[in-house]
Amino acid sequence: MAKASLFRLLFQVIKCKAAVLWEINKPFSIEEVEVAPPKAHEVRIKMVAGGICRSDDHVVTGHLEFPLPIILGHEAAGIVESIGEGVTSVKPGDKVIPLFTPQCGKCRNCKHPESNFCLKNDLPQRQGTLLDGTTRFTCRGKPIHHFMGISTFSQYTVVDEISVAKIDAAAPLEKVCLIGCGFSTGYGSAIKVAKVTQGSTCAVFGLGGVGLSVIIGCKAAGAAKIIAVDINKDKFKKAREVGATECINPQDYDKPIEQVLKEMSNGGVDFSFEVIGRLDTMASALLCCNESFGVSVIVGVPPGSQTLSVNPTLLLTGRTWKGAIFGGFKSKDSVPKLVADFMAKKFPLDPLITNILPFEKINEGFDLLHSGKSIRTILSF
Ligand code: NAD
Ligand code: ZN
Repeated sequence: MAKASLFRLLFQVIKCKAAVLWEINKPFSIEEVEVAPPKAHEVRIKMVAGGICRSDDHVVTGHLEFPLPIILGHEAAGIVESIGEGVTSVKPGDKVIPLFTPQCGKCRNCKHPESNFCLKNDLPQRQGTLLDGTTRFTCRGKPIHHFMGISTFSQYTVVDEISVAKIDAAAPLEKVCLIGCGFSTGYGSAIKVAKVTQGSTCAVFGLGGVGLSVIIGCKAAGAAKIIAVDINKDKFKKAREVGATECINPQDYDKPIEQVLKEMSNGGVDFSFEVIGRLDTMASALLCCNESFGVSVIVGVPPGSQTLSVNPTLLLTGRTWKGAIFGGFKSKDSVPKLVADFMAKKFPLDPLITNILPFEKINEGFDLLHSGKSIRTILSF
């Protein structure tokens, strides 16, 4: 066969189903989309499984602004369908996890040993495209934006090579998809960003998939006391199961929750985590940690256009206030290792999975998240 026609056979546009968000605060519409072949240094992936994270919902509600129409989804696992010219780290048939935090390995941030915020990350610019500034999705004749370079709510997606990691061929994709966001973000926030210490006291605000993963990390790091905070008491059972030693509901007290936590921890916790995405709880998390050696980590995505004003004296006395994307992990290096650790039973993922739905029922999955009844819903493709 002539080289050109073989090329056309291998690199065709794929028609498949995807969940398109046309407008904010509207349900997803399951549409037939066209997925263009991967260009040079790009990879086309067949999706197998993916979770629903609150960050996707933040785009639906407008809390996190991205250009529309868009295909959301950023916590998934799949199999490489085809690769563009020059791709060397994956090949067709490989099991992979797409990376919403890319790792180019060349920029100043990638080269810094403590940083994982690659300068190729689309979060600051929010172009909603791949690196070359264009999209690979078309629906009803219109280009559809990409989300964080990976758009996993689609049966097929195209990503840049810096946004995908090859994982163990034996890994169960319907579980390790959580390593694509929720688990790694929470676990890394505890062990890598806060650097939780043996015997310490931790407070975790928000007990969704990410908050529970923070608890798993605090426990793995040897924390003696892990206080879980949520306004939905139905989340407490699971929190205890993964390692919380106490669970409290701010609505049960007539004083500020930071005051309650200070009293429970002899004057302030060692480490606190905000895993909700609200300014008031970010302030409470900062205030509840020890004034001199406390470390407070912002994990929740704050509402874009709002600011928080704090008295700098809170930091002058010695507190540390920090935050991180994806648990501070350098994604392409760390994701295969996290999958290997899961395979070696170093941490569980099962407690995070409460519901499994066919991909087409994605709107039901978001309803479950809104009702507070699910931790992670896994969509199977
Ligand atoms: P989730 O919605 O499943 O969990 C949030 C929890 O917070 C729920 O249990 C809810 O009941 C609780 N909550 C809500 N309001 C509260 C309040 N006022 N006080 C106490 N508890 C309250 O969300 P998730 O998927 O676990 O994600 C948590 C946050 O982390 C979101 O903001 C998400 O966007 C963010 N996130 C950040 C990163 C990152 O890289 N930094 C990655 C993933 C998710
Ligand atoms: Zn997420």
